[in-house]
Amino acid sequence: MVYVGVDVGATYIRIGLIREDGSVINKVKIRQPVSGDENTVANVIIKSIKELTNGIHIDGIGIGSIGPLDLSKGIVPWAPNAPIKRFKLVEPIIREFKVTVILGNDAMAAVWGEYLFGIGKGINNLVYITFSTGIGAGVIVDGHLLVGKDGNAHEVGHIVIDINSRIQCGCGGYGHWEGLGSGANIPRVINEFIKNKSYKSRIYEKLVRGEHVSTEEIFQAYYDGDELARDFIDNYLMRVHAVGLANVMNAYDPELIVLGGSMALNNVDLFRIGIEKYLREYVAVKPARIDFTKFGDDIGIIGAAALAIKVPESLRMYVRHYEEFLS
Ligand SMILES: [Zn+2]
Repeated sequence: MVYVGVDVGATYIRIGLIREDGSVINKVKIRQPVSGDENTVANVIIKSIKELTNGIHIDGIGIGSIGPLDLSKGIVPWAPNAPIKRFKLVEPIIREFKVTVILGNDAMAAVWGEYLFGIGKGINNLVYITFSTGIGAGVIVDGHLLVGKDGNAHEVGHIVIDINSRIQCGCGGYGHWEGLGSGANIPRVINEFIKNKSYKSRIYEKLVRGEHVSTEEIFQAYYDGDELARDFIDNYLMRVHAVGLANVMNAYDPELIVLGGSMALNNVDLFRIGIEKYLREYVAVKPARIDFTKFGDDIGIIGAAALAIKVPESLRMYVRHYEEFLS
């Protein structure tokens, strides 16, 4: 049996041909189209799936997408970070390939991939959290994938970390975990952090001159021993992440939390030590183990395919079959 996993990100779309055991046969990474109508994204995906499968039979297609999603319509109604904000996914793809298609949120797909094939295999209380442009999570409690009324039961990136913060998240809220600690927001947060402070630091000099400093640059400076980068990451950012993770543990009582996303995977030791340092100040339950995905970037396609390989009970009502579109 061969499945297709489609990982729809804000910047890239990754598509993989995946075996029933979760192994990757072949894959491709394409850029999100920068302009077009509501069918453009699906058309780009269809073209790539055709090239990748080259006529071989596929047994199902799973899609893990940036959200928020409208699961019942199978569309992305408004993606704040993607170039095309509203696009169809399920219907055009199902019409083209005439197989069962299932859509889920990208982090929801990732936790399902870890549950079926990864380091979370068989662990019935499991959370996956991605640290990249945003902060997203997928949650399994008692073997049950959490979905919610609109598919947002696991949007822990928007839990409030700091009621006094006036830093606004992409969603519009203040003091959110994502707003204070995600890759897209760190450059703004560090500008707030340096107010009324002074450092002997290259990063600090750049910020004072009003220059933009990227998140990657701040982490690089950290390893170079930069005084501001050290203070910001060790004493602020790691506390933010520890508070976020403690909230997740307090809410869901997981046995294991799997971390992914470029920010975490490029700084594994830093995250491990930094979170450990602060976690116990905030956690009320027996703390979960924390580990890092072994799939790297492939977690998106493996997780998406996993949704089709073994459909989670809680998503069953949203599975669409070709026969429904025959009329
Ligand atoms: Zn938010």
